Amino acid sequence: MRIPEIMKNRMSLSFEVFPPKADKPLEPLLEVLEKLYAQEPDFISCTYGAGGTNAGRHMEICRAIQESGVTQPLSHFTCIKNTRDDIRRQMDACLSLGIDNVLALRGDIPKGMEGTGGDFTHASELISFLREEYGDKFVIAMAGAPEKHIEAQTFAQDIAHLRMKQDAGADFIMTQLCYDTEQFKRWLSDIRTAGIHIPVDVGIMPVLNKDSVIRMCLGTNGCSIPRELAELISRHYNDSEEDFRKAGIEYTVKLVYELMIQGVNGIHFYSLNRAEAVLEICDACGLTFRK
Ligand code: FAD
Repeated sequence: MRIPEIMKNRMSLSFEVFPPKADKPLEPLLEVLEKLYAQEPDFISCTYGAGGTNAGRHMEICRAIQESGVTQPLSHFTCIKNTRDDIRRQMDACLSLGIDNVLALRGDIPKGMEGTGGDFTHASELISFLREEYGDKFVIAMAGAPEKHIEAQTFAQDIAHLRMKQDAGADFIMTQLCYDTEQFKRWLSDIRTAGIHIPVDVGIMPVLNKDSVIRMCLGTNGCSIPRELAELISRHYNDSEEDFRKAGIEYTVKLVYELMIQGVNGIHFYSLNRAEAVLEICDACGLTFRK
């Protein structure tokens, strides 16, 4: 079943992985994928490096997920350094492998570059292009930032741009990580008021390690760390990483519940290429044996 139809019937469950570097073996990630398949996710997405730096590996992973026969891949794709012809070539390659879900992104502009270096400046243009060229062949997801995209001047402008992506033909929203559930609630209400009616799939970054939470929130995404999470990070846990991980998993489970009751249409775990923690969280949230 196509992803938006699944989301119309019930909340979806999905995972995100990233491809290994060119000189690293694929097998460890394939083993992680095997463990994730056991959860019967509705799809597994694979990230795409700036300028297609990992395009080959990215396709290998999408292909492996497709060939598993257990679930469907969703391929991230960006405007960075991609011309119309580059996009056609990569999208045709996806379709030839049966991969027909894509997350259409602008991509983060690499350091030292002024714009995307490709034919499109914003994700909305990529989405329009995909719809014009391929009709309904692809399910197209778009990114959304519940705390506002870091470059946007105001929430209103960012939401107007989200509306443009929906109107260009996107089928559902995949969100940036967001630990501030009150802000998430306001954003959900504001996008609905702005006429954005497509399903929302919320991105969950499990809290497993202090440094990575700080890096993910403050390093690139400009996401806030609410008081409860800040307290968690400040505690010593007798310098035990394992004790912090336990507390972080409990925090993440609570976060998932708080987002579920807001009526999101899907839960998307950033697995960081490790299966154990997300599977533990799924279990604790009752996301096991859902079907
Ligand atoms: P856009 O929708 O183009 O928005 C970018 C900024 O421009 C926003 O501030 C927006 O308000 C503004 N804007 C949009 N349209 C206009 C307009 N017409 N005029 C003026 N301003 C406008 N990056 C990767 O490189 N690879 C990945 O695999 C990847 N995966 C991701 C997965 C998820 C779930 C998410 C949420 C993000 C992911 N990213 C990835 C990061 C993403 O590429 C960045 O957040 C990027 O900075 C913006 O992408 P976008 O598609 O939201 O861009």
